[in-house]
Amino acid sequence: EEESVALREKYHILADGKDVPPLIENFRDMKIPPCIIEYLLSKGIKTPTQIQMQGLPTAFSGRDMIGIAFTGSGKTLAFSLPILMFAVEEEKKLPYIRGEGPLGMIICPSRELARQTYENLQAMAEVLEHDGFPRVGVLLCIGGISMAEQYHTLSKGFHIVVATPGRLQDMLDKKKFSLDCCRYLCLDEADRMIDMGFEDDVRTIMGFFKQQRQTLLYSATMPQKIRTFAEESLIAPIVVNVGRAGA
Ligand code: ADP
Ligand code: MG
Repeated sequence: EEESVALREKYHILADGKDVPPLIENFRDMKIPPCIIEYLLSKGIKTPTQIQMQGLPTAFSGRDMIGIAFTGSGKTLAFSLPILMFAVEEEKKLPYIRGEGPLGMIICPSRELARQTYENLQAMAEVLEHDGFPRVGVLLCIGGISMAEQYHTLSKGFHIVVATPGRLQDMLDKKKFSLDCCRYLCLDEADRMIDMGFEDDVRTIMGFFKQQRQTLLYSATMPQKIRTFAEESLIAPIVVNVGRAGA
């Protein structure tokens, strides 16, 4: 515990909440598959960034989390890898039944962000499958994509949805898939999402969840609106802050 506190000080990481898991200084300090570590190396990603040091073990521990970190700090990996490994582990336990809806969901404020996140996830999912892990399907659910393209992925089966709020709500309203089995939610750039007027949409989407879930909320800033939203939507979250925002 004392060692954890010293390390957080060393890396200027603030972590608030009960039973904060120890940070990792190296990707190998966590149960991350070696093929993923190799893949990250090939992308020039050798050591975790501050938000990854504390965000990865927190997400892997199953706790709700609020992550506050500046742009370019590597937030995508901090939430993508845990949600992907969650889907892999679930698939190992109980093979996915086609058409039952996603196990996890990532909501982004813009199409471009959703697409980037989708491509990142897809690449890591392929690396895992190539290494013998079960296939994890990812559905990109954004405006501007033809329904035919989306149905193609829908029919192949998918575990994770990456979406923008508008298109997602539309698909849920039309019962294209259900969130009955969804137990993992990640909100990326929550501050931007609220600034863009998506708060009600996100609340409506959360209303479709039937099961207890793990929720990660990532934001560059922490205005009161986000605090209030988080208080209502997360359970006993660990707050990880690596910037000046809200400090
Ligand atoms: P954010 O969402 O916090 O703005 P991103 O997740 O988009 O940041 O990451 C920004 C860039 O940093 C990306 O090009 C990503 O590949 C790279 N990156 C992520 N993690 C690391 C790391 N640990 N080491 C080096 N580069 C990284
Ligand atoms: Mg980002």
